[in-house]
Amino acid sequence: MRVAVVSDIHGNRHAFEAVLDAVEAIAADELWCLGDLVGYGADPDACVALTRRYATVCLAGNHDLAVRGDIPLDEFSRGAALAARWTQETISADALVYLRTLEPLKLDEAVGLYHASPRDPVWEYVLSPLQAELCFDVLQHRVACIGHSHIALAYTRGAGMPATGEKQPDGAVLDVAEGEWLLNPGSVGQPRDGDPRAAWMLLDTDAWTAAYHRTEYDVAGAAAAIRAARLPDSLAERLPHGQ
Ligand code: ZN
Repeated sequence: MRVAVVSDIHGNRHAFEAVLDAVEAIAADELWCLGDLVGYGADPDACVALTRRYATVCLAGNHDLAVRGDIPLDEFSRGAALAARWTQETISADALVYLRTLEPLKLDEAVGLYHASPRDPVWEYVLSPLQAELCFDVLQHRVACIGHSHIALAYTRGAGMPATGEKQPDGAVLDVAEGEWLLNPGSVGQPRDGDPRAAWMLLDTDAWTAAYHRTEYDVAGAAAAIRAARLPDSLAERLPHGQ
């Protein structure tokens, strides 16, 4: 099966629509979302609606949990807390019903799916080989997908070897047929790895390859929507920098 894996959409309808077009163009079999549909961006309802329509699997991220009231906002940075409160005030009742159905992990697919990490599906940012090592020790699958850090990357561990990993640029294709893998597709709606284009990944669970993709989108439109919604200006300013 060829699965398009997306994460951290964050209310950025402009980015998500562009990614969905790209996913349709390569005829992926399914779309899986690793969570954080909302928070930061100006179009939470549209992003929830598109996810409901196209994703066969969807997790809850920390921002989704905060918006539905399951995480206190004082655990967030100031900008994130303001955006979560704004989202609570503007999200439709219907979209909120959907967010309430989501869990931060899913373990009954061919690969493990976690919003953040196998050790802590809600909060851990896996950004070092040591963290990856500790995650591999608790992993129930050989391959897992994680989001949350907004950085497209992959960690791997072969038998008797230490974990290694690095960021994955547009066009990178990994052979994941051997060893253990933690794959992060990066963020659709707020990339933080210096590339402002929307990030996603195509995972082939028959051939066992992971292909990293970046898709251009209307960054100025997404930034203008954030400003028009009177969300913190910093959330608009960071988008063109991919930070
Ligand atoms: Zn996120």
